[in-house]
Amino acid sequence: MNKFLNPTFNFFTSGKLNRLSVKRLDNEWIRNKIEDETSKFIVLSNLKILVQEKPVIHAVFFSIKDLPEELTVREKVIFLGEASGVNYFCLDITSFPDVNYFLGFGIFKELRSVAHFLDREVGAVLAYARAIINWHNNHQYCGVCGRPTFVAEAGHKRVCSNSECATEHFPRTDPAVIMLVEKNGKCLLARQAKWPQDQYSTIAGFVEPGESLEQAVQREVLEETGVYVEQIKYHSSQPWPFPAAIMLGFRATAVTENIKLGDYELEDANWFSRQDIVEQVKKGTLRFPPPISISFRLIQDWFDEDSPVGLEELIRSSK
Ligand SMILES: [Zn+2]
Repeated sequence: MNKFLNPTFNFFTSGKLNRLSVKRLDNEWIRNKIEDETSKFIVLSNLKILVQEKPVIHAVFFSIKDLPEELTVREKVIFLGEASGVNYFCLDITSFPDVNYFLGFGIFKELRSVAHFLDREVGAVLAYARAIINWHNNHQYCGVCGRPTFVAEAGHKRVCSNSECATEHFPRTDPAVIMLVEKNGKCLLARQAKWPQDQYSTIAGFVEPGESLEQAVQREVLEETGVYVEQIKYHSSQPWPFPAAIMLGFRATAVTENIKLGDYELEDANWFSRQDIVEQVKKGTLRFPPPISISFRLIQDWFDEDSPVGLEELIRSSK
């Protein structure tokens, strides 16, 4: 079996969390679980997660007895699911006036910057919390009539408060394609000017309304690099809640080679053989996105297919 088709292979995906979507409808069950002292709460402030830095960086979870009472009303907490007998909830404390209370437990950090320190099951539940709180933040008002919305189904639905409208809104995730393009033993990598120096990655872009994923792969590569691809094959996917994407990974074979930067997103794009990668990584003139990202996985999967040394080992030994 292709290891990349393992549903939990990529970081930010959990193999243990059961979302118990039917239980979200049961207000009494949710209330009982909120009050259960074994339940764990994740708090986010401005979409940042709370971590303790010592002895090593780890996420802070709260039990109900450690949370201010006004925060644990059913309308504020979002049920995430159950793992290993523990029920997980999250809540946004951005507007809570006494932020210092929480700073007594740790420090708020951007998930992306600390994810590589975290256990992958923990990383997955935090990514889920960040994604759904971001959705709530952006759907306080009805997109149909403009009136306020209210929370339903333990945080998995918002409903318009205008009874004549009553539109139901559900959490959304934005599909984006990300692809390793190859041709004759080389892969196509590119960089944006705002990225860290010497960092190259795979091509990526959002899926537009009215196109298939394969068309999005073809269009994005063509628009950004001028290269035409065919033989588009699905690889794996990764939730990427920065702020709201699901990355859909592909491999594609280029039919043309000439690079012509097209849409101003990229500063540079180039073809790299495995030998180019080995030499430039060793020289310190080529870097990749962090190993928790699907972009790294796509590059690694391609590189490792025909290299005596794996990409992670190459990077480790070149530091
Ligand atoms: Zn409405």
